[in-house]
Amino acid sequence: MSEKLLEIKNLKKYYGKGDSEVKALDDISFDVYKGEMLVLLGNSGCGKSTLLNIIGGMDSPTSGEVLLNGVDITKYKDKELTKYRKEKIGFIFQFYNLLPDLTALENVKMSLESKDQSHLSEKTLELVGLNDKKMKQYPSQMSGGEQQRVSIARALVKNAEIILCDEPTGALDDKTGRKILELLQDIVRKQGQTMVIVTHTTPIADMANRVITLKNGKIIKERVNEHPLDAKDIVW
Ligand code: ADP
Ligand code: MG
Repeated sequence: MSEKLLEIKNLKKYYGKGDSEVKALDDISFDVYKGEMLVLLGNSGCGKSTLLNIIGGMDSPTSGEVLLNGVDITKYKDKELTKYRKEKIGFIFQFYNLLPDLTALENVKMSLESKDQSHLSEKTLELVGLNDKKMKQYPSQMSGGEQQRVSIARALVKNAEIILCDEPTGALDDKTGRKILELLQDIVRKQGQTMVIVTHTTPIADMANRVITLKNGKIIKERVNEHPLDAKDIVW
């Protein structure tokens, strides 16, 4: 696991000016390797979402670089950035962010360039554990865990370079959350998907290949898990 997919270099994100200045990201540098599960760990307000949103091309930094396969995405114009988000990035949110007026299947199809790849969307929904009947339901008819499965399918179906998860279990009970983590770990292990998971829940870090701890916009610790825990064995 030595091929660099993503390089974050001296990333800064400052809000406000003078006395009210907030250094949400204060000179962050790290790499993400192909096929790894990386956990970014830290308390609320330490800059996790800001960092993930910048990597995902949804926000821009004050300074610094984000290179995917050697190309700096912070230099992208709007059009290139939209293409980057659509093609290269799968994003999984705490509150799923599904479109309420579309069925599970339609939500997943939205993520694809060619809308007639219905078969691929169905296959992916099956892979995340949703059957034919569920696929035709709307988000409001599904449990939180099921909605998160749809959002995972939506990220997965487009064969993104990297999947970014912002507190993916934050809105779920422990048991459902663990099932979702099992699914995410399975995707990394079986498909070689690269994944970054942001969380404030310390035990979740034990399932990662590598853990970076953030505090007040800075990296304070980095560790490699030689033997990542199976998600099913995580207790919190
Ligand atoms: P986390 O996801 O780790 O909880 P965030 O990335 O959401 O942290 O926020 C990091 C810091 O940046 C916090 O102090 C937050 O209040 C601040 N922040 C985030 N977004 C904004 C914004 N749009 N304007 C001003 N401050 C912000
Ligand atoms: Mg956050």
